[in-house]
Amino acid sequence: MPDNGRMDPEEFRSAGHELVDWIADYRMKVGSLPVRPVVAPGDVLRALPATPPVAADALSDIVADLDSIIVPAITHTQHPRNFAWFPANASLSSVLGDLAAAGLGVLGLSWQSAPALTELEQAVCDWMRQLAGLSDAWSGTILDGASTACLVALLVARERATSSSLRRGGLQQEASPLTVYCSREAHSSVAKAALLAGYGSDNLRLVDAPPPGYEMNPSALAAAMAADVEQGRRPAAVVATAGTTGTTAFDPIRDIAEIAGRHGAYLHVDAAMGGTALLLEERRELLEGVEEADSVCWNPHKWMGMVLETSLYYVRDPAELVGVMATDPSYLRSSVDGAVVQYRDWGIPLGRRFRALKVWFQLRLDGPAAIRARLRRDLANASRLASLVGAHPDWRVLAPVRLQTVCVRHEPEGLGADALDAHTLAWCEAVNATGRAHLTPAKLEGRWMVRISVGAEPTEWDDLEELWTLMREAASERS
Ligand SMILES: *Cc1c(COP(=O)(O)O)cnc(C)c1O
Repeated sequence: MPDNGRMDPEEFRSAGHELVDWIADYRMKVGSLPVRPVVAPGDVLRALPATPPVAADALSDIVADLDSIIVPAITHTQHPRNFAWFPANASLSSVLGDLAAAGLGVLGLSWQSAPALTELEQAVCDWMRQLAGLSDAWSGTILDGASTACLVALLVARERATSSSLRRGGLQQEASPLTVYCSREAHSSVAKAALLAGYGSDNLRLVDAPPPGYEMNPSALAAAMAADVEQGRRPAAVVATAGTTGTTAFDPIRDIAEIAGRHGAYLHVDAAMGGTALLLEERRELLEGVEEADSVCWNPHKWMGMVLETSLYYVRDPAELVGVMATDPSYLRSSVDGAVVQYRDWGIPLGRRFRALKVWFQLRLDGPAAIRARLRRDLANASRLASLVGAHPDWRVLAPVRLQTVCVRHEPEGLGADALDAHTLAWCEAVNATGRAHLTPAKLEGRWMVRISVGAEPTEWDDLEELWTLMREAASERS
């Protein structure tokens, strides 16, 4: 398109309108597309040229390829009958904020490089804190994801437990091993963070989280910590989960905090999924005790609806965090150091996007009241579905419906455990193969079940009724 090697603002204006129209059209028709892509591995790669473009293409050619190559090869996360994984709503209001961020093209290296990037982030983190009913003891930043937040938390925990071993010989010179605890229902990113932070898999304890609720058993945690101390190890950190990946269980944070406190262990709360519940006063009790933690992470890019890479990380002691994460290269020093927040020292990357804009846009364009109403709609829909499923003699709801996730199994009489597993996977796949809804199977207590994660922005009760019909058809054809 451009002949001087760059798109000028007037060309951008017209191409931008075309692309915004295309996005709006996509969102309007997404409910009529098959939720799950029908592609085989390598299909997309084969549809793409093996060599880079020689000359400039027109936007219309790229949009045509979006339609023919890209759209058919994605799971439509924004589809009203997408119940897979977790709700990852990219609200259009936050899409606009993300576009503004890209358009400004700001370089977030330091406060000086874009004071507004830092100070808007301070402001929206504090707004979100207030909306969540957290005390003003918390200071927040926006990270890319909960996995990073957990890694950062476990690094800080490690340094607290070793009085800053990184300033000496590191973990390699510690006399006794440090241990980390989480529920066996915790997200895989917790184990990954523990390994990357150098604790070693021998020192990670997966604490029992028994049925019926699947939340961490605090007595088992206390026993595991005591046994480690007995054997000369040092409990350094506990990660409590608020909204587990399998069943959206909430670990008892207050009890866990008390036990962690006995050992001086750091407490991180992984509320990646469940944090959104804090927006609803009537659900805040699920995170009771969160004020006792050292840090908490919550992904508004899940159910709340912000574009991905909006993961709030709140700490009680920013100085401790900065003490671990800060570097001080000469080219970044300035006269205002000490008077401003330098978010590069609150996480791992140096250059940061203007992430706060998506939060700002969504909160201002949608407004908290509408967001809360949507969340309450989803809670009501999930509990209504659970009642329907639970009332059917051959179906079982396997875990308490704490938020918007309903875990189910079709259990016709006479199937042994292995046959039941095969049946579960088969009916789930049959539902997905219709293209009319999308569900993910997962293991619970070693057996397959199916998770229905309600909460895509456009999902209404009609969509759940349709899903329930599809489920019954798929299951009875197969029993
Ligand atoms: C989604 C999720 C994660 C992972 O979050 P990312 O932001 O994708 O890294 C971690 N823990 C829990 C409980 C989650 O729900």
